[in-house]
Amino acid sequence: MDFQYWAVQIEKMPRSELETLQLQKLKAQVDLALRTPFYKERLTKIGIKSKDDIKTLDDLNRIPFTSKNDLRDGFPYGFLAIPKEEVVRLHASSGTTGTPTTIYFSRDDIKRWADYMARCIYSTGCDKNDVFQNMITYGLFTGGLGFHQGGEEVGMLVIPAGAGNTARQFKMMQDYGTTVLHATPSFLLHLETKMREAGVSRESLSIKRAFAGAEPYSEDTRLRIEALLKVDVYNSYGLSEMNGPGVAFECQCKDGLHIWEDGYIAEIVDPNTLQPVKEGEIGELVLTILCREATPLLRYRTRDLTSFYTEPCKCGRTHRRLHRITGRSDDMLIINGVNVFPSQIEEVIMGMKEVGNNYLIIVEKDGALDKLTVKTEVISDIFMDDTRPLNALKEKIKETLQASISISPKVELHESGSLPISEGKAVRVQDKRPKDV
Ligand code: AMP
Ligand code: ZN
Repeated sequence: MDFQYWAVQIEKMPRSELETLQLQKLKAQVDLALRTPFYKERLTKIGIKSKDDIKTLDDLNRIPFTSKNDLRDGFPYGFLAIPKEEVVRLHASSGTTGTPTTIYFSRDDIKRWADYMARCIYSTGCDKNDVFQNMITYGLFTGGLGFHQGGEEVGMLVIPAGAGNTARQFKMMQDYGTTVLHATPSFLLHLETKMREAGVSRESLSIKRAFAGAEPYSEDTRLRIEALLKVDVYNSYGLSEMNGPGVAFECQCKDGLHIWEDGYIAEIVDPNTLQPVKEGEIGELVLTILCREATPLLRYRTRDLTSFYTEPCKCGRTHRRLHRITGRSDDMLIINGVNVFPSQIEEVIMGMKEVGNNYLIIVEKDGALDKLTVKTEVISDIFMDDTRPLNALKEKIKETLQASISISPKVELHESGSLPISEGKAVRVQDKRPKDV
């Protein structure tokens, strides 16, 4: 196989040099972090007052972990390390409550991010001859703009298609001769179903590759998409706290995701003891970003469960590979690529006086896509024969949830005391999607 490299010197850098580079960048990040109210307090407390207090990469272990809750507590500017007039963009994702976790970028941060994305895209064999249809949400979510900039950096013709509307997606694929797609794995499967329904022939399309990420999926799902759509599928991993996509990506070997270690220091820890796991064991991924000045984050707990490959990759890149994410160490659900914490749903429904004490959140597959159903009990006074107040309440719950979690669920109302109550700790979430990861 002919491998191609966007930044060959860095991608194949000997590990000792890579570690020297990491140390140098870590020191710079610590200096930046000390300019933020959050880390100034945290780091000075443990005796880290400047980059000179970081002498080896092992000194990272002295630094406490940063969590999504910390980011929320520091909202909106507690993690900002540069003057606001030098910030050119923000992206945000859902927090465990209504407060979003917000990340800021300087102009150079955006350039660096585009460069990491270009590296990912190019490593799959794409180049400037490709037409890239980016079928993912733009906006506060990082997936749209992240891939968009990376695609342009590679020189591809980028179509900012956005998510949804399969008929329009097929039309664009045919009109512009799209060769590369980006979507969630569920949407790619959904696309195939719609393609058959609409009678769009595979021969009328020129697609060769697809990038799939934003939610967990199994190797079987990848193989299924590849067989059905006749494309090569590459796994893309990232999270908004670490810029978004561009953190780890599969190369042409399609065997594990290279994590760009000149941009991120990756650790895998036991989520209970927070101690490093043994080589090759599964644990929670902890990341320190080295490629962003506006919002430095040190030892960020991603909550994603994965493990390192122990063998180097055939492509010759020296950056270690991660196994596909097998799950989370918290209760976050990913529904059609959108992150949802059960606590966000609870906050909405329990805030309504008409709603009773018991509720149930059900996530299941509806064809290839995910479906969210929220069942709640209503207080006994309003459970009457008149369906009007019930329908109004249903609408109200639906709309408030849509505003809070960006998903419009199916809402079912039940008579007080009619939903099952489990003995002991309430099981309020039923994730019925096949666990094939
Ligand atoms: P967001 O911050 O909205 O971009 O969501 C990031 C989260 O999505 C990650 O922490 C993962 O839980 C999940 N995620 C993103 N990409 C993947 C992937 N390729 N495989 C599994 N989970 C993913
Ligand atoms: Zn590789």
